Amino acid sequence: MKQHATLVALSKDLADGSYSSVELTRSYLQRIERYNPQLNSFITVCAEQALEQAAAADKQRQQGSAGPLTGVPVALKDIFCTEGVLTTCGSRMLENFVAPYDATVVSRLKQAGMVLLGKTNMDEFAMGSSNESSYFGAAANPCNDRHVPGGSSGGSAAAVAAGLAPAATGTDTGGSIRQPASFCGITGLKPTYGRVSRYGMVAFASSLDQGGPMTRDAADAALLLSAMAGFDAADSTSAQPHMPGVSSSDEWLQQVRQSGLQPLTQPLTIGLPREYYAALDNADCGQALESMRKTLEADGHRFVDVSLPHTEAAIPTYYVIAGAEASTNLSRYDGVRFGHRCQDPADLDDLYERSRSEGFGAEVKRRILTGTYALSVGYYDAYYLKAQKIRRLIAEDFSRAFKTVDLLLAPTAPGPAFQLDELTRDPVAMYSQDKFTVPVSLAGLPAVSIPCGESAGLPLGAQLIGPAFAEQSVLAAAHQFQQLSDWHNRFRPLAEESA
Ligand code: GLN
Repeated sequence: MKQHATLVALSKDLADGSYSSVELTRSYLQRIERYNPQLNSFITVCAEQALEQAAAADKQRQQGSAGPLTGVPVALKDIFCTEGVLTTCGSRMLENFVAPYDATVVSRLKQAGMVLLGKTNMDEFAMGSSNESSYFGAAANPCNDRHVPGGSSGGSAAAVAAGLAPAATGTDTGGSIRQPASFCGITGLKPTYGRVSRYGMVAFASSLDQGGPMTRDAADAALLLSAMAGFDAADSTSAQPHMPGVSSSDEWLQQVRQSGLQPLTQPLTIGLPREYYAALDNADCGQALESMRKTLEADGHRFVDVSLPHTEAAIPTYYVIAGAEASTNLSRYDGVRFGHRCQDPADLDDLYERSRSEGFGAEVKRRILTGTYALSVGYYDAYYLKAQKIRRLIAEDFSRAFKTVDLLLAPTAPGPAFQLDELTRDPVAMYSQDKFTVPVSLAGLPAVSIPCGESAGLPLGAQLIGPAFAEQSVLAAAHQFQQLSDWHNRFRPLAEESA
């Protein structure tokens, strides 16, 4: 069966009756069984439930009520609460947590008739850029298993790249969809903040967290987004239809559901943020972006130089804000209300201290400590408040740029996937991996990472960034490039061995 097929192709095959959802699901499950020991991209495989969902989808199709995603398998990052299924968030703290309810994203995918293959590996509480902070062990990059798949949605990226799932959900707080997509040679969209409900998505940094699709190409990202997105009263920061730009983009999503992603209708003006290119020291990456620019230029799009002057401040700003929010969000894991509880506590303080010391890994502790420090009396103004002010300046940089350009083209990551263990002893070097992704997160904007080249056999990614709620043009431009190039089809690791 077509293990590296797109959602669009699988949807068509299921509609044509080329195979049933049960057959399709079984073939993915077999592949997971075969390759997951090597890749470690799934923490939990939901074989039994998946086959039941597939059988229900086949029945629905027979009854004539199938939608475009009915019976199509998908994997979920293990940060999305899934009723009756282990939801660990990559942490020992939640090692035994079986969610009592579905995240809105999960219930929407179920409603669309999708088959949930399992829960994918991730950095602990989504803190990391390599998947190495997972309590369940690092995941491998299927393009080269000595390299990391990126993070924090590393398991999702690896699963899609290796054809263990045709698509997956991810979350992006500072780059966690885009950077692993770039490292594994797939397409990953971080939607506008508020576009996809955060209800039931384990919180890391609530003002930044955003769920999104990780797929083989932009047309699939649009299709999966159309099933995930939409207003949700259960998320207080969910974008409401009356907000500027939301209702027209809601209509667009509906159109995608009905007839797929439509091509671009007019040439675009695309900005090249000069600070990003100045900070890019990987020659292969520079060349790949240059040839992507030429391809789009030959297609009639115009490129102009733009400046985002506060780019350099994004990493420290992000790590203050994300840490501060994490330190408050993670206070709920105290061994009483939630999470791992230590054995035989002597008293309440001992219970809290040991439960948290045992339940959290080193990176999570580092974030809690730095975040608590940034919020403490006497330091709040110097760190947290200042970071909030700089966040505003960064957002204003983008607003100014989008007065003159439709989109921005930038690298996703400083280079290709690094090696396992290469950066684990240097947290600051690990953090600097996010230098091109965090500014977009701080500004709450949509951005897609798509494959645009390679370096030593490993994929490279480019980001197309748009104004708030402009997923339509971001994805249409990505799709246009994918019509004119085949980078998104080149990285098909393990394809030759497919069952
Ligand atoms: N690598 C970043 C961090 O560690 C981003 C993570 C994310 O987007 N969840 O915080």
